[in-house]
Amino acid sequence: MLLDRRSFAAGATALLTGCAAVNARPRSIAGCTPLPRVLVDESRVIRTVAGLRPYRRSGFVVRAEALGTKRLVHNYGHGGAGITLSWGSSRLATELGLQGHAGPVAVLGSGVMGLSTARLVQEAGFPVTIYAAALPPDTTSNIAGGQFHPFGFYREASATSEFKAQYLRALDFSWRRFQIMVGDDYGIRWLPTFVETGSPDAREIANFPPINRMLSEAEHPFPLESVLRYDTMYVETGRYLRQMIRDVQVAGGKIEVRRFATLADIAALPEALVFNCTGLGARDLFGDGELQPIRGQLAVLEPQPEVRYAALGAFGYMFPRADGILLGGTFERDVWDATPQPADIARIVASHKQFFDRFRCTA
Ligand SMILES: Cc1cc2nc3c(=O)[nH]c(=O)nc-3n(C[C@H](O)[C@H](O)[C@H](O)COP(=O)(O)OP(=O)(O)OC[C@H]3O[C@@H](n4cnc5c(N)ncnc54)[C@H](O)[C@@H]3O)c2cc1C
Repeated sequence: MLLDRRSFAAGATALLTGCAAVNARPRSIAGCTPLPRVLVDESRVIRTVAGLRPYRRSGFVVRAEALGTKRLVHNYGHGGAGITLSWGSSRLATELGLQGHAGPVAVLGSGVMGLSTARLVQEAGFPVTIYAAALPPDTTSNIAGGQFHPFGFYREASATSEFKAQYLRALDFSWRRFQIMVGDDYGIRWLPTFVETGSPDAREIANFPPINRMLSEAEHPFPLESVLRYDTMYVETGRYLRQMIRDVQVAGGKIEVRRFATLADIAALPEALVFNCTGLGARDLFGDGELQPIRGQLAVLEPQPEVRYAALGAFGYMFPRADGILLGGTFERDVWDATPQPADIARIVASHKQFFDRFRCTA
């Protein structure tokens, strides 16, 4: 099943994105503003990946509870928006956990959520140890496309108004935190994003997304009737997570590779405060049956540095990164097998080829 990012998050129909402002401002020629074409071909595929989004219908969990004499703070279940929400959700979790706490802190998990939580704990002045079964690059967070956009992490009908308020606070903090990390060291950059859709994005928080307007046919090269442009940030997740690990270590944090099988294992830790950032692992470890995987598959093409825009629509999505052009994707509920399926990958490549080959003009 090809991914329709927006219909999942908001119940709307599929979108395709189109483009516009790029590097050197392209001239509009005969009713068409050109952009560099992504060269899609099976021969340009450099790797394929699949990952399992940790999804909960009612939304992600930030909650404190007692575990014997310890305080346990959950921070998991961010579906298709874990990169986007990482700083904000971790901020909510640390606000909850650190109040009145003294002494060292444990963080379970070394994906984007565990690393952000660990950094906020350190910034608040506490020593931290991360315990994780797997480290980057072997986490779901490394698979993520890395678009900053709140997509695919709850179902409207299942979420409470309290959850939505929590999510908006998280989104707002993340939005501001990522902005001060833009640059090559963290692998974060702004890109114009073009979406096949009939209306601008809802603005749920101030200033996001900036630039949020429907384009005329003359303003883009896409073979589409209706194109929205919004701007947002994109995270090259491999580079970002590597840098986050370094940040934790430079600030004196320890990292221990360890898998927890039972709550008794956690209760035996020396730290009195424990943050649970185990993503999909929380299902077995904490018995959260609502947590389910949503598999996503990506085909990655050889990099094309001249492509400086992202596009989304009925064909899937294209995010250009220094480590390759990402073509996505699928959205497969309750599928636990995290291996790319050749037939799905072939379909993703074919749908993008058809889309990019039909550009009305190219730069
Ligand atoms: C194809 C795809 C595309 C995506 N695109 C985007 C996107 O564009 N933007 C976006 O915001 N999000 C995106 N996501 C979603 C994002 O990847 C996830 O929401 C996010 O990675 C979850 O982070 P996490 O830290 O909670 O989990 P993980 O990255 O899975 O980390 C969990 C950590 O917990 C550890 N752990 C688990 N169980 C145990 C245990 N029992 N004992 C010890 N350690 C344990 C693991 O080893 C790991 O270190 C995408 C996901 C996929 C699959």
